[in-house]
Amino acid sequence: MVRERKIGPGDHAKGPPEEATKEPSKDTGKKARKSDPTDIPFESQADLSDTDPADQDQAEPITAEPITAEPNKVDPNKVDPNKVDSGKILGLGATRSENDSVLRPKRIDEMIGQREVMEVLKIAIDAANKREDPLGHILLDGPPGLGKTTFAVCIPQELGVHVEMASGPSLKAPKEILPYLTNLQRRSVLFIDEIHRLPKPVEEFLYTAMEDFRVDIVLGEGVNARTLNLKLQPFTLIGATTRAGMLSGPLRDRFHIRQHLSYYNQEDLVRILERNADKLRVEVSHEALMEIARRSRGTPRVANGRLLWVRDYAMSKADGKVNLSIAKSALEMLGIDSQGLDRQDRKYLETIVRVFAGGPAGLEAIAHTMGISSDTLEDEVEPFLLRSEMIIRTQRGRMITPLGTKVLKDSPKS
Ligand code: ADP
Repeated sequence: MVRERKIGPGDHAKGPPEEATKEPSKDTGKKARKSDPTDIPFESQADLSDTDPADQDQAEPITAEPITAEPNKVDPNKVDPNKVDSGKILGLGATRSENDSVLRPKRIDEMIGQREVMEVLKIAIDAANKREDPLGHILLDGPPGLGKTTFAVCIPQELGVHVEMASGPSLKAPKEILPYLTNLQRRSVLFIDEIHRLPKPVEEFLYTAMEDFRVDIVLGEGVNARTLNLKLQPFTLIGATTRAGMLSGPLRDRFHIRQHLSYYNQEDLVRILERNADKLRVEVSHEALMEIARRSRGTPRVANGRLLWVRDYAMSKADGKVNLSIAKSALEMLGIDSQGLDRQDRKYLETIVRVFAGGPAGLEAIAHTMGISSDTLEDEVEPFLLRSEMIIRTQRGRMITPLGTKVLKDSPKS
């Protein structure tokens, strides 16, 4: 039961979606205006501790009408263009959100791979259901495209509850997360993607929400300031991050379950592709599925994108059926080599060799030379190269390994 709203093509989960930063729609905005505490100047929890406790006790209970502002929802079924290797890997006619919503599993049992994570979550969900309690807060970390959002969509299904989807960078101030929190019902789930990008005041505002299911709101300023304690329904926060190391200790410690998603093996990727080829009603030979999986860098999102492209290629250049030679030609046309590296991956390796003599080279220096953001390199390019031992990270910077040099030599020139 995902609460969704229609999102325009420019919307995406990574950067703050423009629409998501706007005020609520006129109607809801008006309704909320009368007593909407989101209109009240906010201060972080650090500031709240300065408030006289006596004042807090005397704070008037909230008798005003409930907050009706609509949270800025993020569509879980849209593919964030920043997270996909590149738009090019999607089929030419493919609408990202359409395909993603068709291919994304809806139940945990439909998910493939990540067995250890799955086992832990199933036990926790089962226990929470038996006790009829909310599930403990969950932190999922791992490179993009491995299934963090998919888990966040499937878990509420197993609990039979709603999920609110939000994204860290779009929550710029505590008042922006408040509507999400107050809209939550007992046991429902709040998913925050890229939780490491929450601004500090928002993160601190979440501490009491996560721990005691309450938030403290400061009304007024200076000597007239007072604190309102707003009780929340017991809920579950699912946080997703590609950079677990960037999470502050206090936030990390408030998650009861912390799980790392790792790259998928070839066998699991083939099963995912097989199922998705059925969903897309495209005939793909087993050899072709193996080839697509082998060139998908252990990542389901990449595999799905490549499957969609191969399907389109087969439709345009042949009779729509995908065999090994069609799959190879389609992937080679996009510059995806037999290791699954694309042009950007190779450019990264080439830059280290050509400009920095194999390294060590600092991330920022490589990023500047390539004209690409260091975040993109760190989140989307490096994890797979590191895991495949094509580069190493040393204290003095990144270095290419003998394997990386060999792969680069064997790869087609871009
Ligand atoms: P993340 O949030 O980690 O960036 P997503 O959950 O958005 O990744 O996954 C991207 C796509 O990959 C999903 O739309 C889904 O189709 C597919 N996918 C991810 N994990 C699985 C899985 N375990 N089984 C099947 N498909 C998966």
